[in-house]
Amino acid sequence: MGILSSPIEYLKGVGPLRADMLKKELNIFTFEDLLNHFPNRHVDKTKVNTIAEINPQTDFIQVAGRLLGYEIIGEKRSKRLVALLKDKTGILELTWFQGINWMQKNLTVGADYLVFGKTGFFNGKPQIVHPEMEAINHQTTEIKSFLEPVYPTTEKLKARGLNGRQLGKLTQVLFQQILAKDMAENLPADLLQRNKLINRYQAYLKVHFPSTIDEYEQALYRLKFEELFIAQVRLGLIRLQRHRASRGVIFEKVGNYFNTFYNRHLPFQLTNAQKRVLKEIRTDTARGHQMNRLLQGDVGSGKTIVALLSMLLAADNGYQSCLMAPTEILAQQHFQSLSSLLKEMNVEIRLLTGSTKAAERREILQDLLDDTIHFVVGTHAVIEEVVQFKNLGLAIVDEQHRFGVAQRAALWKKAIIPPHILVMTATPIPRTLAMTAYGDLDYSVMDELPPGRQPITTVHRYEQARAKVMDFVKEEIAKGRQAYFIYPLIEESEKLSYEDLMQGYEQVKSFFPESKYGISMVHGKMNAEQKDTNMQRFARGETHIMVGTTVIEVGVNVPNATVMVIESSEKFGLSQLHQLRGRVGRGREKSFCILLTGSKVSEDAKERIKIMCATNDGFKIAEKDLELRGPGDIEGTRQSGALNFKLASIVNDKVLLELAKAEADRLIEDDESLQQEKNIPLANFLHTQKGKTMWSKIS
Ligand code: ADP
Ligand code: MG
Repeated sequence: MGILSSPIEYLKGVGPLRADMLKKELNIFTFEDLLNHFPNRHVDKTKVNTIAEINPQTDFIQVAGRLLGYEIIGEKRSKRLVALLKDKTGILELTWFQGINWMQKNLTVGADYLVFGKTGFFNGKPQIVHPEMEAINHQTTEIKSFLEPVYPTTEKLKARGLNGRQLGKLTQVLFQQILAKDMAENLPADLLQRNKLINRYQAYLKVHFPSTIDEYEQALYRLKFEELFIAQVRLGLIRLQRHRASRGVIFEKVGNYFNTFYNRHLPFQLTNAQKRVLKEIRTDTARGHQMNRLLQGDVGSGKTIVALLSMLLAADNGYQSCLMAPTEILAQQHFQSLSSLLKEMNVEIRLLTGSTKAAERREILQDLLDDTIHFVVGTHAVIEEVVQFKNLGLAIVDEQHRFGVAQRAALWKKAIIPPHILVMTATPIPRTLAMTAYGDLDYSVMDELPPGRQPITTVHRYEQARAKVMDFVKEEIAKGRQAYFIYPLIEESEKLSYEDLMQGYEQVKSFFPESKYGISMVHGKMNAEQKDTNMQRFARGETHIMVGTTVIEVGVNVPNATVMVIESSEKFGLSQLHQLRGRVGRGREKSFCILLTGSKVSEDAKERIKIMCATNDGFKIAEKDLELRGPGDIEGTRQSGALNFKLASIVNDKVLLELAKAEADRLIEDDESLQQEKNIPLANFLHTQKGKTMWSKIS
């Protein structure tokens, strides 16, 4: 145990009370934790500004001037000492609420001071509350020439005299106690050299106390690199471990089911992306190790057929498959489209959802155990809980971002050798996220749409233009097409959502009288059967319009629908908008997406709408989404420890991340057990860090 693991109360100037606060407020338990509490900025104390330069955007500032005088004003809690400082350009108010007596004794009217602090405006005049004051002695005072660190802190700590700058004093004390050898290098020498990285001790020292901006940048670069590199090495080792250690059922051959379907019943030519992914799946499932593959394909890229072909591959090898969907509607749709694709084939496929009747359910459960069913399609919940299989070989999860880790784990119990897992998502994940949050999975990307699709035209319209929008929808319907009207789901209140939707429904009816138009509706309050009936009527073309909430968001496939009207679109997130838009543009006809908003739209919402109008590319949208919201908010990644970087950001440090990954891959390729002399420090470091990170482990 080195000095760095000493409890924080052992640091001079800390003591039990402050230690307690540091633990509670900032999770600082040890010396090392304090070193890892990085400054969020440095203040350049080499610079002296003029008072006239202060504006509402100014943050910390240093000025020099003469003290004109001071007085004590206010009573009790608003009692304060106010002093006036004058330089060539103006006058600055300095205010103290605490330590008034002491300040009064120490301030000399008429003397010159160097003043430092955070500026603010009070009654339109610039002021600094509790500035640091230093008398300028014209013979000896040199203006300090260093960059002083300012740390993130909390209100409670400030009240205990640990503001953003005072924390730096503790760090300074700490650096007086530790030596370079206390912070041994953990990266191999050749890697440091190749990437021109400074050593670990220097990096820590300079990230806190740089002499120049340049030094700071170098230190930061090294530490960010380390963070990303360590994470990539770890993920790489997990991946390797899984590839090597897991057992998986072997799909050794491509047989009759696959070939017959492929040669005789495939309704179209596969895209190159579909072929590539199938090849990846084929390779994965033949190796004797469990496949754990994430398939990202933009909406409409044709993931269903990839799922079907993979299931046929399982059947060829004597294994059962299941396909799970997040909603009942989608499960039914999958069931219907797979059944119809398979109608000429001798394949047993069943649907199992919450609304499957008891007798039928019993029969399905029995038949699954007897091995007479090849494929079962259902909702997540149903398949996780009750179903036992004779020999499940492949589990496909559609729309992964709604499928939790625990749910996935439940699948493992269904077979002695865990089934291969294919997780499909139509919410594209930016590459940087895929490399971090999902870095322990293998992933495939389908970045190609089937031929003949026309890009969807997306426009933004304000409420005032509703009549025109409705006319446009009428024209489309007159051409034989169908339209969606989608209303936001109000998360806090099902009742409000429902009322909103009903109002919307009435409004739609007022433009599209029932005597002439058929309108379907789907919402959360309906039972599965009602939903299905309504959905089916629309899917079969018996109604012209589908009014709904985001229940229909995922996966629904009605190729004849060409208009998607999204009401109050400012209330939707980017990936949701993209998903919804993906419900149209699925056939040969030109499709449109109309984003309606009220007249007041926040800047963020405007940005989202602008992006939607500018591109149909789900990957670009995902990148933007990540930029706008930050990684913490991206669905499905919230619990992922993989994103808890202290310094690096997967939004801003893309290039560095790529570099770190390349270096990590190179290292693992070269010395996967980290036994080479030069890699021993890294191996030791990883060992000591064990348990500190929780990965989004899927297997
Ligand atoms: P998603 O990836 O969004 O799940 P689907 O699997 O629902 O997409 O496919 C969208 C539509 O594209 C379906 O109507 C499907 O039949 C069609 N499709 C899929 N692959 C191809 C292809 N290679 N060529 C032509 N149409 C295809
Ligand atoms: Mg789909």
